[in-house]
Amino acid sequence: MKVTVLSGGVGGARFLRGLIDVLPQTDVTIVGNVGDDLELLGLHVSPDIDTVLYTLSGAGDAERGWGRADESWRALDTVAQLGGDTWFLLGDRDIGLHLFRTEALRSGQPLSAVMARIARGFGLELTLLPATDDTLRTWVDTPAGSFPFQQWFVARRFEDEVDGIRYVGAAEARPAPGVIAAIEAADLLLITPSNPYVSIEPILAVEEIRTAVLARTVPCVAVSPLIGGKAVKGPADRMLRRLAGGTTAAHVARCYTGLIDALVLDEADADDAPAVAALGVTPVVTRTLMRDPETRRALAETALGATGSVL
Ligand code: GDP
Ligand code: CA
Repeated sequence: MKVTVLSGGVGGARFLRGLIDVLPQTDVTIVGNVGDDLELLGLHVSPDIDTVLYTLSGAGDAERGWGRADESWRALDTVAQLGGDTWFLLGDRDIGLHLFRTEALRSGQPLSAVMARIARGFGLELTLLPATDDTLRTWVDTPAGSFPFQQWFVARRFEDEVDGIRYVGAAEARPAPGVIAAIEAADLLLITPSNPYVSIEPILAVEEIRTAVLARTVPCVAVSPLIGGKAVKGPADRMLRRLAGGTTAAHVARCYTGLIDALVLDEADADDAPAVAALGVTPVVTRTLMRDPETRRALAETALGATGSVL
């Protein structure tokens, strides 16, 4: 069964780890968010895609959920000593990847081609695609001003309330090679338990990707990132409350109007199931907290099995 997955960073990677336990990697294509990407110290950093890469290849730091295991921070210590920018943490091993990628990009290779080489280099057999090779950046409008996503998220610790989100460059962005084909060839589309606004929407902001998902002839199943109306981590609940007016599973489903056929939601939100169903989206209630390999695998199996209730 060929599965194409739209994914953000930490929540997405956690879910995908379970998915590749139950599916052959060669059947899996991941379309990753590049709205979080940034230039730092002359390096091109792709936080969400790298989180997926590190997590799925086993190179990731399980505790932090991002970056590499067995990491050191000496390069950044030097930057700090010199008074440079250190608000965004880059470990030494991580920097190695950024050096490799940045050089390849400067020599004119598209991000998708570089990421394909990197994924192979990390031993992955699945296909890991950026949504686009073009520059698409998420900006956050707040009462304190507008910020590029990472400035708001990391430097300002997502403390400012979000009034609006913009995907700068989305109008001109084309899907990376392989993205549309992977959506059209899939037997099932999945949306990971990621932040709808800043992880999944920047992917769907590429018009041709949204159109391909809207035109699907196979089911699309999303997993809610909220448990009991709360984010496991991060600002998704606050953003939903302010931008969508609430944090029920129906509010999550409404972020994906026309794009999903089923929503996997947590037992803690079971009361929301009728409201989700009223939107024409099949609610699938299960435990969605991914604590260990077993719970991750069970959630992946439920998401795959959700097609049964949709077809
Ligand atoms: P980011 O790009 O690194 O911020 O990560 P994502 O957008 O992919 O994932 C962030 C979301 O993952 C948050 O909204 C969390 O609530 C959600 N999340 C993290 N762990 C879990 C989990 O175990 N279960 C569920 N359902 N959601 C989770
Ligand atoms: Ca992200």
